Amino acid sequence: MLRRLALGITVMLLPLATAQVLTAATAAAAPNTVTLHYDASDLPDYQAETTQAVANWNGAVSNVQLAAGGGATIFLHEISGGGSYTQTDGHGNGDIYIDTQQVAEGFDPTRIIAHEFGHNLGLPDDYSGPCTEVMSGHGPGTSCKNAVPDAQEAAQVDQNFANGFAPAHRLTVVRD
Ligand SMILES: [Zn+2]
Repeated sequence: MLRRLALGITVMLLPLATAQVLTAATAAAAPNTVTLHYDASDLPDYQAETTQAVANWNGAVSNVQLAAGGGATIFLHEISGGGSYTQTDGHGNGDIYIDTQQVAEGFDPTRIIAHEFGHNLGLPDDYSGPCTEVMSGHGPGTSCKNAVPDAQEAAQVDQNFANGFAPAHRLTVVRD
């Protein structure tokens, strides 16, 4: 059974019988797509980068989509120093902190934002991974500008949201 958190999150739900038919017939259509709303108003210097990072995720996954505005459950903030990080339950609720000093050091802001959204979508860090992964984070160095999740990362996120909103995990702090 789908379980939903009472957090003001918009979840598209079809009548159960219809959804079951659609799930069986057209799984790729993701009739139970979860929409996660984010608020980037506290990240004024990286509006375009946020929009691009969101577009990258939305183009890669189908069971969950990110959307600006609405009843936000993901909040982005700008900080200076200490490193970018995310405080999240790994299932669409959390706060993302983007460190302007990391950008000044040469790290790509769109990649940082895509990485931190990845934590909100349930992905762990994989610093030893290649530049083709967004969850490899700072691992590949400042020359890595890739902000598009690879196929394996996208598949994991789709799996994480395959059943809509499962019960949230305990809040955890994910560094970088
Ligand atoms: Zn990370």
